[in-house]
Amino acid sequence: MHLESLSLRGFKSFERRVELRFDRHLTAVVGPNGSGKSNIADAIRWVLGEQSMQALRSKNLVDLIFAGTDRRLPVNVAEVVLTVNNEDGTLPLPYAQVAVTRRAYRAGESEFFINGVPCRLKEIHQIFLDTGVGRRGVSLVGQGEIDALLTATPEQRRGWVEDLAGIARYQLQKEQALAK
Ligand code: ATP
Ligand code: MG
Repeated sequence: MHLESLSLRGFKSFERRVELRFDRHLTAVVGPNGSGKSNIADAIRWVLGEQSMQALRSKNLVDLIFAGTDRRLPVNVAEVVLTVNNEDGTLPLPYAQVAVTRRAYRAGESEFFINGVPCRLKEIHQIFLDTGVGRRGVSLVGQGEIDALLTATPEQRRGWVEDLAGIARYQLQKEQALAK
């Protein structure tokens, strides 16, 4: 599995639709301070189902929507589409390409789609569990996260080991079963 492209529209500093295509091996994003590099990583976290506003460097959902500038009006919807190449079948879906879409409206609603079909957030969490790139995955390492690793409590460290060992899927199922 690898990331093919990311499309952003109205997400943080990306007012108009921008599509980024990723090289199969290595893609570097360069630009001046404040130009939106970290916003790209935030978009990937968000579309993969991140719910923690802190992890998205925002206070609330509305902060994720382009707020306008001196010369530009704000927009009402943020949309991110992440297209993943699934030719090797890493994701448990019978498609060679999987496009995950997340939308948020200023009024507060959210929408999720897998290959254009509406779905629930839970389904997005589930298909990326144990792949390393999901909400609790370890493939996105943010500025300052190495410090967090060094100062983590034993319980937090155990949580990471459990994710890597693929136990997270069963814990989520257990939590959902107990909540019923
Ligand atoms: P650095 O090199 O300093 O890490 P960066 O390229 O990673 O910079 P980002 O943190 O991705 O920069 O982008 C920050 C910019 O995004 C700021 O200018 C901020 O105003 C803008 N921004 C964030 N949220 C919004 C929003 N909702 N609407 C408009 N602009 C936003
Ligand atoms: Mg940055």
